Amino acid sequence: MKVLVLAGTREARELIELLAAEPGVEVVASLAGRTSSRVELPCPVRVGGFGGVDGLRRFLRSERVGAVVDATHPFAARMPHHALAAARGTGTPHLRLRRPPYQHRPGDRWVEVDDMAAAAVALRRLDARRVLLTVGRLDLEPFSTVPGVHFVVRSVEPPAQGPPGATIVTARGPFTVDGERALLAGHDIDALVTKDSGGDDAKIRAARAAGIAVAMVRRPPDVDATIATDASAAQAWVRALTPPAPGPHGGDAAALAAWLGTDLDAVLDLSVSLNPDAPDAARLVARAATRVGHYPDPRQPTRALAGAIGVDPGRLVLTNGGAEAIALVAAHEPVGWVEDPEFSLYARHLAEVREGAPRWRSNPSNPLGRLAPGSAEAAVWDEAFYPLASGTWTRGDDRAWRVGSLTKLWACPGLRLGYVIAPTLELAEAIRSRQPRWAVNALALAVVEPLLAETDLAGWAAAIRPRRIQLVQALMARGFAVRDTDACWVLVEAPGLRDLLARRAVLVRDCTSFGMPGVVRMAVPDDAGLDRLLTAVDGVRRDAGGAP
Ligand code: NAP
Repeated sequence: MKVLVLAGTREARELIELLAAEPGVEVVASLAGRTSSRVELPCPVRVGGFGGVDGLRRFLRSERVGAVVDATHPFAARMPHHALAAARGTGTPHLRLRRPPYQHRPGDRWVEVDDMAAAAVALRRLDARRVLLTVGRLDLEPFSTVPGVHFVVRSVEPPAQGPPGATIVTARGPFTVDGERALLAGHDIDALVTKDSGGDDAKIRAARAAGIAVAMVRRPPDVDATIATDASAAQAWVRALTPPAPGPHGGDAAALAAWLGTDLDAVLDLSVSLNPDAPDAARLVARAATRVGHYPDPRQPTRALAGAIGVDPGRLVLTNGGAEAIALVAAHEPVGWVEDPEFSLYARHLAEVREGAPRWRSNPSNPLGRLAPGSAEAAVWDEAFYPLASGTWTRGDDRAWRVGSLTKLWACPGLRLGYVIAPTLELAEAIRSRQPRWAVNALALAVVEPLLAETDLAGWAAAIRPRRIQLVQALMARGFAVRDTDACWVLVEAPGLRDLLARRAVLVRDCTSFGMPGVVRMAVPDDAGLDRLLTAVDGVRRDAGGAP
């Protein structure tokens, strides 16, 4: 999520430093450009006014800002109102970060006034002779006509024009109490004029200790907004707005549900590409619940699956999900070649990825979603999504390893069920001997045959195709750049969309880990899911003023 920090204060700097280290947060600082020397900030910095509320509104939309923290000075008179109006106009979450005012304590000799002109008048009443002005170099004009007073002006940069004969001290805080006492004593100061800026109160404490009168200029009225008074509170506010950062493989639904405070089932998880028409595996698992009292026996389900696929059961090994299938083959053939963008688990499990080594290849390719041409070759074909793309179990490359994932086909990723088809009986035996005992649990094994009985590959693949086209058209009609696929997902070029949808309890896959930043992968949902997805997308677009 991109966070715009309207800066120019110490709190802004502190917040930017915190947010720069925050995962999932991209921070942009904005400065009015009043001072020529600038503190280094660990983020991109834009400088200068936005051009009023309309300009800021345009900026928020065009830069896809997800939240605004207005950390401008408590005496910034216009920016806080502009920021709030522009944030409200664009539906952007807004926070005002404003330090608390100075605390009046026993011993303080304050005269509280509304503005600089009133402060200048108050100096006469105080009968001040030597006055320290710490009001900023742009607010000095009312003091030029105060007779009989010598002014010492302290500011970050020298003022263009100060009171006649004034002593100029340039310095940037933070200041120490001892330093401030030395300044007051060194210039024989008998009154101080300051804005009630709050924060660093060294000069207030030094004035109290020296019994010096203070003309305290009250703050202008601020906006009626959510307020944080320090950088860490503002960081917490940003955190609460930022959905959990994507994990390496999608499937972050549980973390998102916890963040949203909702039930896991309330999240529409399109970050994992599951068969939208899969039978109800949970019902079958429930029916098989008593199997937990027995050790699993994979022999009969293995025969049944091999029969459905049309391979010798001796060459098929059921696994604890496609991930175990990949890990087992990689353990047996530890040097392989992976051409990115590709599913990251191959490289994770291979001991060495070397160009020219036996190629690992997903078909359809994950994430690009394209079926490999008939002439393509690989040593290991990952056919996790092949049945849903082609309507058949396998491309049938008999000399290659094939790995598959029934968890996609039967939409049961929590159950874990996959398989390896080895090129030979001997190699299948080698995989079996590597596999930990009882790797596939009894519940998963129990549902293989009932799910096979309800499996309709050709029908499922035929049903996904028009749904995918409908999804592509709906997104394109809303202005998104969509990359169609042969698979059960589409790719959408939409930086920031993952987080914006996540706030609406719809999870899509951020493709940064595939080396495709700014792209999200969306599973093709069922009809109800499509309605929900498009409602969420329309909400995001509405907030962005119609932009995709
Ligand atoms: P202001 O009266 O609220 O702002 C005047 C105009 O300056 C705004 O309408 C806006 O122009 C532009 N602006 C202000 N802050 C901006 C920011 N952070 N980024 C981009 N544009 C900004 O504010 P000010 O009193 O002139 O103060 C200007 C800056 O100095 C603020 O950032 C503030 O934090 C800092 N500062 C002020 C004081 C003070 O006592 N006033 C003290 C210390 C630091 P557009 O309308 O064109 O967008």
